[in-house]
Amino acid sequence: MTAKVLINISYFVVALLFILGLKGMSSPVTARRGIIWAGAGMVLATLVTFGWPGMSNYALMITALAMGGGLSWWSGKTVKMTDMPQMVALYNGMGGGAAAAIAAIELARSETHAPAVTALAIAGGLIGTISFSGSLVAFAKLQGIMRKTFRLPAQNAVNIILAALTVLSGLGIASANHATTHQIVIFFALALALGVIITIPIGGADMPVVISLFNALTGLAVGFEGYVLNNPALIIAGIVVGSAGTLLTQLMARAMNRPLTNILFKPITGEAKTGQAGIAGTLKEVSALDAASMLRYAHKVIIVPGYGMAVGQAQHKVKEMSVLLEEAGVEVKFAIHPVAGRMPGHMNVLLAEAGVSYDKIFDLEEINEEFSQADVALVIGANDVVNPAARTDRSSPIYGMPVLNADRAHNVIVIKRGKGTGYSGIENALFYADNTRMLYGSAQQVVNDVIKHIKEMST
Ligand code: NAP
Repeated sequence: MTAKVLINISYFVVALLFILGLKGMSSPVTARRGIIWAGAGMVLATLVTFGWPGMSNYALMITALAMGGGLSWWSGKTVKMTDMPQMVALYNGMGGGAAAAIAAIELARSETHAPAVTALAIAGGLIGTISFSGSLVAFAKLQGIMRKTFRLPAQNAVNIILAALTVLSGLGIASANHATTHQIVIFFALALALGVIITIPIGGADMPVVISLFNALTGLAVGFEGYVLNNPALIIAGIVVGSAGTLLTQLMARAMNRPLTNILFKPITGEAKTGQAGIAGTLKEVSALDAASMLRYAHKVIIVPGYGMAVGQAQHKVKEMSVLLEEAGVEVKFAIHPVAGRMPGHMNVLLAEAGVSYDKIFDLEEINEEFSQADVALVIGANDVVNPAARTDRSSPIYGMPVLNADRAHNVIVIKRGKGTGYSGIENALFYADNTRMLYGSAQQVVNDVIKHIKEMST
């Protein structure tokens, strides 16, 4: 058996490991196992590639692997859960950049490639470069480095003209017998600018969806470059990432009721602070003691966690409180909105980490009808995902987004630090409703206070 056949068999095993990994990641129960399967696939693919016929430059390869592996190991260990989206953006950008770098090298020797291969190198280079520069802008926005959202007067026209120029310069390379360095540099400079100009007007609220879109594009670019290099593992990895990213993008866009075209071309600017409907009522504060007694003597409590629970690292305290309430005979359920937090599954991961059993955690469609039977809806650091304006106020920027019906519970207790708005930057009528009480403070501290009072009531 030749080395090439052995390598291809190993790549087939790699493909199986990637698919098993993805399958595992589809549920929080098996997600950890899924990551390990996919990681093992990646390690195998990398090791096997060292034996690729004609491979040289081993010292460079090992140095690059050590640098990249070391940096990502360190950043993976130290990143805060709330900073995960920008880390995904950064890693994703690196993937797009790597695909673009391969394209650049292959285009520099385009005369050795068949026209179809050159065309794929150009397509992969274009998509990878847009994903690279766009992801870096997304990272800068989420990290707070780039705070302003710029929108040019004729933004969509500029996008179209720049895209047309980039495609034209790509066609120029495709039709040349030998692409000059000038042509290649102009092509990549235009693609870099296109990634930046598309992403700059997009506001923070839509950014996770855009990151997911760039992730899908990176997969596509990697797949194309895999074809150019004739490397099956790259083709498979690219297609798996591309299709998973596309599905995730659709899922997030649907959960926010924001068509992808609106996200890219009609961004939420954060300028609309409420809808035109305005907000009636006042904010009514409650003490931790009163909140504890409302919870302790309820029959049914539905807890709605949001981004603030993640920031406040309150998940362990929330779990402790739920156990105490159950011991007192209260039925406790958790309601998870598909885009609560800053990435899909954010709340599920935190609750799983705290040991909340999966049979107490319910998706929006499963639990929304039950709020009207709950004595208390306890909203912990959630805002947009419980904003009733999304159901009723046509002028609201989040109109149409499915929301959790927390307002339909008999009583609502909202834990948050102050008057901060949610991710989309708009006010929330729920906080002013007659049946809502505000429990101010950072989630962990406040839940801890509530726990103390529940314990006192139970002794
Ligand atoms: P949110 O709307 O961002 O609201 C979070 C709230 O938590 C804020 O109002 C804030 O108010 C409060 N908070 C912050 N730190 C806190 C702390 N330490 N203790 C207690 N409260 C704290 O969160 P969400 O309801 O989870 O909604 C998620 C948002 O992200 C949605 O707009 C969604 O569309 C967007 N998004 C999510 C995804 C995803 O995949 N998950 C993707 C795209 C977009 P104070 O400052 O007053 O405390």
